[in-house]
Amino acid sequence: MNLLREIPQVSKLLEVFKEKYPEAICKRAIRETLEKVRQEIKTGKRQSLEDLHALIEKRIRELSYTRLKRVINATGVVINTNLGRSPLAKEVAEFVKEIAIGYSNLEYDLERGKRGSRLSHVEELLCELTGAEAAHVVNNNAGAVYLVLNTLAFGKEVVVSRGELVEIGGSFRIPDIMRASGAKLVEVGTTNRTRLSDYEKAVGPETALLMKVHRSNFYMDGFVEEVKPEELLSLGLPVYYDMGSGSLLSLRDFGIRAEEPSFAETIKKGVHIVSGSGDKLLGGPQAGIILGKADFIQKLRKNPMSRALRIDKLTLAGLEMTLRLYLRGEYEKIPTLRMLLQSPEELKKRAKKLARRLRQLKSIEVFVIRDFSRCGGGALPELSLETYCVGIRHKNLSITEMERLLRESEPPIVARLKQDLVLLDVRTLTEEDVREVVKVLGFMGN
Ligand SMILES: *Cc1c(COP(=O)(O)O)cnc(C)c1O
Repeated sequence: MNLLREIPQVSKLLEVFKEKYPEAICKRAIRETLEKVRQEIKTGKRQSLEDLHALIEKRIRELSYTRLKRVINATGVVINTNLGRSPLAKEVAEFVKEIAIGYSNLEYDLERGKRGSRLSHVEELLCELTGAEAAHVVNNNAGAVYLVLNTLAFGKEVVVSRGELVEIGGSFRIPDIMRASGAKLVEVGTTNRTRLSDYEKAVGPETALLMKVHRSNFYMDGFVEEVKPEELLSLGLPVYYDMGSGSLLSLRDFGIRAEEPSFAETIKKGVHIVSGSGDKLLGGPQAGIILGKADFIQKLRKNPMSRALRIDKLTLAGLEMTLRLYLRGEYEKIPTLRMLLQSPEELKKRAKKLARRLRQLKSIEVFVIRDFSRCGGGALPELSLETYCVGIRHKNLSITEMERLLRESEPPIVARLKQDLVLLDVRTLTEEDVREVVKVLGFMGN
């Protein structure tokens, strides 16, 4: 209990720190740290005040730094929703920065010296890359779904298969957004089977749209039947396909056994409108990409909600540069694609290299493990990608303790657990990440 009386006064402590850090932050950090320290003394968890200054300084840093920060994704989940989905390419980030810190021709036509359209910068690129007649871009794909339904089906009926009334995550449910858009949902078929005749029977004078939704985060196997978007065209009504992840490439051409068609493949079949996210398989910034027949896209643009859902200039810059990388065929520069397309041999080599470096550490046991990673982000749910991980365990820490310490390190490392090991999946680690991982584990393992 004497220790309690030895705690320095707040004003004394403030003197120590306020030269170096803002006073308000120092005060709060001191108050919070002293509170914690008192508790620890009372409960017998603390026998000295030796580390008091270090604790206060640590708290000051925590309070001064941004809450949003870079983390190292060692989960192997490429489009990791919790960790920010798609990282941007270096070239893309640099261009975003250039546009961010200066003025730009965002809404200015330099040739004519007149007001221009902000979306003109990406519309042509999108059409060129997908073969679509016209393109529109909004804030995200949820916004795209809302805008399409609100524009084309307000107060009217939209026919959807029961097997596609999905929840995407973060409480985003297709039926909810349909209701919010003012469209009337007409469900057809059953969870596992829906036929063309089901749609046909549901169509009436009030039907505005037939909608297909990509299941994104699960897949069905067994006694299942669904109608392809192109088959719906035979019913003579506009067809809208929410493709969810929306790839610009046909991933099958790259050896990925994906069922998902690309934007171009779907457009080619004559589907009137398609939409997808900019930060899933496309590997760009968050955006909702809408492609399709010019007359429909024209209507979307005229909807006042387009303004409420419009993208900002940073997103626009990121999207344009990402699309340019596609146009140049520089796919390997797009991190999401690069990570997805790594071969198992390459991953094995990288895992072995990381393992070799970690084996120098006395307290950590290291293994190279063959495992499977997921694409994530509601894309390619049917796919398990062969990968290689470095499995580690600490001689004096449990795997849950180790997982937590990694998560709380600087920078934080998010790993996954499997049996008695903490797994670091090299698929989602860059070379720079690997260096950081070695450094952080170096503190922990020596
Ligand atoms: C992910 C997804 C959405 C939502 O897209 P956001 O860009 O996250 O708004 C909508 N529909 C489907 C089918 C999806 O997979």
